[in-house]
Amino acid sequence: MNFHLSEEDRLLVEGVREFCEREIVPHAAAWDEQGAMPADLPRRLAELGLLGLELPEEVGGVGLSAVAGVAVVAELGRACAALSLSVSAHNTLVAGFLRRAGDPAQRRAFLPALAEGRMLGAFALSEAGAGTDARSIETVARRAADGFVLSGRKQTITHATVAGLYLVVARLEQADGPLAVFAVEADRPGIHADRVATLGMCACDVGDVLFDGVALPKSALVGDPAEAWEHLKAVLDRGRMNVAAMATGLVEASFVAARDYARQRRQFGRPIADYQAIQWKLADMATALEAARLLVYHAAWAHDRGARTREAAARAKVFAAEAAVRAANDAIQIHGGYGYTREYPVERYLRDARLCGLGEGTNDAMRIVLGRGIARRFGAA
Ligand SMILES: Cc1cc2nc3c(=O)[nH]c(=O)nc-3n(C[C@H](O)[C@H](O)[C@H](O)COP(=O)(O)OP(=O)(O)OC[C@H]3O[C@@H](n4cnc5c(N)ncnc54)[C@H](O)[C@@H]3O)c2cc1C
Repeated sequence: MNFHLSEEDRLLVEGVREFCEREIVPHAAAWDEQGAMPADLPRRLAELGLLGLELPEEVGGVGLSAVAGVAVVAELGRACAALSLSVSAHNTLVAGFLRRAGDPAQRRAFLPALAEGRMLGAFALSEAGAGTDARSIETVARRAADGFVLSGRKQTITHATVAGLYLVVARLEQADGPLAVFAVEADRPGIHADRVATLGMCACDVGDVLFDGVALPKSALVGDPAEAWEHLKAVLDRGRMNVAAMATGLVEASFVAARDYARQRRQFGRPIADYQAIQWKLADMATALEAARLLVYHAAWAHDRGARTREAAARAKVFAAEAAVRAANDAIQIHGGYGYTREYPVERYLRDARLCGLGEGTNDAMRIVLGRGIARRFGAA
């Protein structure tokens, strides 16, 4: 296995780290407090290529491998997890789906606009009754004379109120019709979006979206409905690698914050880093960081080689998500009472980390995937 980045990709990842240190880290706490990121941020992200990470250059992307893509998302996760959630949803779920399933006209219409930050993408799958059981969605697109009419409510959608483009998963024609995916511009009449309050990832716009009889042209249907579920599973697998990468970034942020604090905080006349109880926590965090990174890179490497990644993505996500919560919690412990205040970033890391075991398939759902794989291979003697 060779997880090494090309020289070009390595430079891009380093550039992202420097950009984050300079322009993201100093503001992440304020954005969390305000519940928003600056309106001109997408334009600046686009200039760095962050809104077209794995898109080909001819549509304005930077054509990164998945290994380089997860490295970028981990850097963003370390700096501001809310930003990495936003960038991931836009790149992998929206641009990734369109690139995979869209026809040439749809790719021309939407991919450059997404890569240039002229529109943010939202991937609208979840509903009140359809979460882990994604196939139980009730949103319906009925055929009309010149296209479709889309009706339904989507829930906890990243970029709900700021998206320029929604990719909406719906039933075609009737409640038990096949799944189909539609590209829906946000300025179409009949769309109403509301923000919801969240525990963490507060700077990232998340909310509910009502599609109330939205008229769509025939050209809004993305791909063949007979293949929609396979495409959805594929982009969700790739998305899970990003959530795992984001979690890895949070493990690193927690580790660095705790290590630095432990070196300067003195109790009983010595830095607390001298005490073994503190060193063991740091040792566990450093080990989890390395292990999470390897699992994420391994999944992305398999993706780049065209291998099946269902279980590799699930393994990376479940491990990294739980490592991120543990690391942030330990970082708070090492900060003592200060860790519970907003003077230090570690309480935000814990709130943000909690999402990683929920979004794009809960950790329980990931264990179901892994358990089924084991049963399939080793079930019958
Ligand atoms: C911040 C945030 C951003 C999000 N962004 C998006 C987005 O952009 N697009 C989108 O479509 N969705 C988005 N979601 C929704 C997310 O994907 C769902 O929350 C997730 O898939 C879980 O679904 P649910 O919340 O309905 O939980 P449920 O499916 O209702 O699960 C509830 C509990 O039951 C468990 N459970 C369910 N089924 C089983 C089973 N068979 N066996 C054992 N346990 C089970 C789950 O693990 C969980 O613990 C977002 C959510 C959040 C919080």
